[in-house]
Amino acid sequence: VRPVVAYHVRVDSARHGAVDVTLHVENAAPNVRLAMKVHQEYDARFWRYLELGPVTGTSDDRAAGVTRRDTTLWEVRLPGGRGDIHYTLRFPADSGRVRAAWRTVVRDDGALLNPPDVLLYLPDFADAPATVELDAPRSWRVATSLDATDSPRRRRAPNAATLLDAPILLGALREWTFRDGGTTFAVDYWPLPDAAPFDTTAFVDAVRRLSHAALGVFGSLPSPAYHFLVQDGADDALEHAASVTIGVPSAELARDPRARLGEIAHEFFHTWNLVAIHPDTYGELTYRRTPPTAGLWLGEGVTLHYADVLPRRAGLVDTAPSPSNTTAAGSRAAHLASLVSRYVAAPWAGRVSPEAASLAFGESLLTNPNATGGYYLQGELLGEALDALVRDSTRDRRTLDDVMRALYARSRAGRGVSAREIESTASAVCGCRLDRFFATQVRGPGPIDLAPAAARLGWRLVIDTIAAVDDRGAPVPDTRLSAAPVDGGFRLVVTNPASAWARAGLRTGDEVVSFAGVRPATFGELLGVLRRLRVGDTAAVDVRRGGASVHFDVAVRGFDRPRARLVDAPSPTAEQLARRARWLAGW
Ligand SMILES: [Zn+2]
Repeated sequence: VRPVVAYHVRVDSARHGAVDVTLHVENAAPNVRLAMKVHQEYDARFWRYLELGPVTGTSDDRAAGVTRRDTTLWEVRLPGGRGDIHYTLRFPADSGRVRAAWRTVVRDDGALLNPPDVLLYLPDFADAPATVELDAPRSWRVATSLDATDSPRRRRAPNAATLLDAPILLGALREWTFRDGGTTFAVDYWPLPDAAPFDTTAFVDAVRRLSHAALGVFGSLPSPAYHFLVQDGADDALEHAASVTIGVPSAELARDPRARLGEIAHEFFHTWNLVAIHPDTYGELTYRRTPPTAGLWLGEGVTLHYADVLPRRAGLVDTAPSPSNTTAAGSRAAHLASLVSRYVAAPWAGRVSPEAASLAFGESLLTNPNATGGYYLQGELLGEALDALVRDSTRDRRTLDDVMRALYARSRAGRGVSAREIESTASAVCGCRLDRFFATQVRGPGPIDLAPAAARLGWRLVIDTIAAVDDRGAPVPDTRLSAAPVDGGFRLVVTNPASAWARAGLRTGDEVVSFAGVRPATFGELLGVLRRLRVGDTAAVDVRRGGASVHFDVAVRGFDRPRARLVDAPSPTAEQLARRARWLAGW
């Protein structure tokens, strides 16, 4: 006898801060656990807003009820193994500011339901199929990757993991569809009531071409249907196996129908790289915090690499360099040079490895010096370096695309990839030994060396130092100072020993009492003060350190920064120049 798991979700356009849910269960057990999914990165902690109601429809409702066992875990007494578990989520209504596109919201004209926030699940019956009945205004359209049934308002999922990985967008939506690589794509757009009109044909065409370029890497998608859940009045994004929620304001699309294309490419590429090809247990269904993983340099950084090359492959980047100026602004060469410049300037470069930075995800620099977030930039550079290594050792017959395809093939059964498997898979595709590369630049702190990647394209990578200046050539003030939040405020983070702030004596952990005449309550307020500083100013800073008050006068001055450039090698070969032309086009 198969268990029945059926949700009834009531969304009312007049109740912006609440969703009512009834979870109907049959053929379960007299005691079942009930849990709220915790997302590794995007945990909205909606358990704070949960109001559990009665349990009805059991064989003995007087004995039925719910007891909390942990923050995200409850135990339900369900006599007869069946019944209806009622609950309401009462969450802060939309603040009217730009919200993150993955956050649950209910408005007059629609709603976005992020399933972990709204749908509690039964960990003991996580393999059971589930249905969701959407009780929402009749005029609202439904967009979700959840399977359709005979009614568009009743959706189903084969198991809890799929259910909880499928956001639901409701409202006055526009939808466009296309087919590619065996998958039906839907671009769903939720406009604000006062949305700016934009060229929808050009926008959807760009998404279609981008999707085609990504399919060129992997051949097919994990699912037969895929939804771009695009939202006005929102930013940020969150990837899933068969959809993505992403904020793309209509005002930006009105100016440029290719707005945020790199971000769309990044999130779409995550469908494979991070969701399907996931490091270790990343993203697996759980109601607990998952252990950290060493592989975020691959999941995030290599995804950034593809977010840059896919729009080029799709012919969506206008600033194509001319043969006489291959390093023009907007070119792939200019992009790589700017990445290397940023990398060389980073105080953690050569000190914190990509794996160590990945493992420190979610931690604070105040307590863990590896919490640099550097795996994004490191991973993007590693993608470039690895691509060059594979091409070199296979005489351009294989590329990083083949490594990604091989990793995808390994992940088909839903299994995560370990750090060692990433290395062995790349080595197998390369047909070469990558142990030294991984030991020094992935597990080790590097530095990540892009000189070989430049050389095979007929370039020398030249790094020098120049004065940091703005667009008009005026010196930029040294504001190389950061902070991290703590309960009730923030503490300074001073990681660059060359900065004026470090040289004046400020240290990581200092608590700001006053800063240039202001008492900033948040890091955001401190940033505002930093932005107003000019070269030549003296900033008076009072901090508390170890219970004592300490005063500093910091002379604000200009500073030098490293600059990386790709310069023609003395006599590039015809083969190198041919490679370069293809590389510039994203290949
Ligand atoms: Zn990402």
